[in-house]
Amino acid sequence: MMFFRVPLLVQLLFSRRVWKGENRNAVYLTFDDGPDQLTTPWVLDLLKKENIKATFFCVGKNMTKYPDIFQSILDDGHAIGNHTYAHEKGIRTSIDSYLQALNKTDEIHHSSLFRPPYGRINLKQVKKIKALGKKIIMWTWNAQDYKKNMNPNTIISNAKRIKGTDILLFHNSIKSKRNMMESLPSVIRIVKQKNLSFQRLS
Ligand SMILES: [Zn+2]
Repeated sequence: MMFFRVPLLVQLLFSRRVWKGENRNAVYLTFDDGPDQLTTPWVLDLLKKENIKATFFCVGKNMTKYPDIFQSILDDGHAIGNHTYAHEKGIRTSIDSYLQALNKTDEIHHSSLFRPPYGRINLKQVKKIKALGKKIIMWTWNAQDYKKNMNPNTIISNAKRIKGTDILLFHNSIKSKRNMMESLPSVIRIVKQKNLSFQRLS
């Protein structure tokens, strides 16, 4: 069983985090783990062609590795979020190391948006990060494009359940490349057919 939608109960239990956007007539496309050589330029081309602005939750290490690709994300007017420095897992990392990873990425590009890798973060970390003035951004709809046993057609058929305010999660990585590339254009078409627009997070 593949869970695309985050249950409302989970959203209520973790209410200090942002699960959805504010505009009922819009959805919010987000891409985690880039910039990435193989997928990010392809995504940027598609978004330009479709006239869509999105939000990229970038890993500091990859921003350093691919500065030109990172610059293209900025030049195209997309929003940037912090996704730690080396994709640290919150629950396995001390609070000090976790904040250090976050700050190191902020030094490359400051953002008030933060998304914890794997969505895994403890309450202490949540409180500290919010005290820094950051919003902790989760998602309501997860393409699960990184899963080996995922099929692009399954992603596309589950896109029919997307609704206004949804934050959609895709990835920019080698692992998610095939599923992302083979489903994203159709997901965009389905969202547009619902008369929903695409917005950046802020
Ligand atoms: Zn990630």
